[in-house]
Amino acid sequence: MSMDCIFCGIAAGEIPAKIVAQTANVVAFKDINPQAPLHVQVIPIRHIVDAAHLEVSDAAVLVEMTAVAKQVAEDAGLDPATRGYRLVMNVGPDSQSTVPHLHLHVLAGRSMTWPPG
Ligand code: AMP
Ligand code: ZN
Repeated sequence: MSMDCIFCGIAAGEIPAKIVAQTANVVAFKDINPQAPLHVQVIPIRHIVDAAHLEVSDAAVLVEMTAVAKQVAEDAGLDPATRGYRLVMNVGPDSQSTVPHLHLHVLAGRSMTWPPG
């Protein structure tokens, strides 16, 4: 755990968040500033800075994150076969990344536009 990391604080239960799913290595919670009717952050409990810092040995946690994202969307009735969802990982300044703890945005519940801004 990184001492001054807000998402480590959420994963540890020290910072309040609306948790929507939890597995052995992953926590999912509602985004504080939602950009879609469903906007959830899926994070590894273990501190990883961002997708550029993933290593081959992190493969399992990454798959666990995508499985939790699918489960969260399905729980909201937005499963891949009918509505679907968008997964986003921002990396670095140009992406507008703001929280240096790996997180998978799950955005759903509206028709998305492309390209993203
Ligand atoms: P990014 O810009 O990709 O780093 O995304 C960070 C996301 O975390 C943004 O969508 C924020 O709204 C969200 N966020 C920041 N602080 C919190 C918090 N305390 N609880 C829930 N979501 C948060
Ligand atoms: Zn962290």
